Amino acid sequence: MPTRSSRESLSASRQPETIGLPSRLRRELRTIEAMIHIYCRKKHPYQGKVCPDCQELLHYAACRLEHCPFGSNKPTCARCPIHCYRPAMREKIRQVMRLAGPWMLLYHPYLCMRHYLDEWLIAPPERPRREA
Ligand code: SF4
Ligand SMILES: [Zn+2]
Repeated sequence: MPTRSSRESLSASRQPETIGLPSRLRRELRTIEAMIHIYCRKKHPYQGKVCPDCQELLHYAACRLEHCPFGSNKPTCARCPIHCYRPAMREKIRQVMRLAGPWMLLYHPYLCMRHYLDEWLIAPPERPRREA
């Protein structure tokens, strides 16, 4: 069964800088945040909040999301033609997805289902063209 701490408040999605994000992107941020919490709880010394490394990853992911060139037409990052993450961060988020992905269905079934729907329904866009 999901524990109380697995459902603890998801804070990055409530930071002032994310308030202007479209609701779908805020949900995506809640999903990333939930996955990082699960990952940190299983891999790192977790004491009620994520460790500094995972906090840095969460902050980085929130910044990428906020500056995503596709805006509200953003595909899931897995289907993105750009992949804007720095290689080291991309590897970290991959590890998070691999470990936390299967737990999401148990701990956060709504976020999980919505993520799969996005992956299925939102076609990967072409790269945004540069102005001439
Ligand atoms: S990886 Fe692609 S979809 Fe994800 S934030 Fe970066 S540009 Fe946007
Ligand atoms: Zn951690």
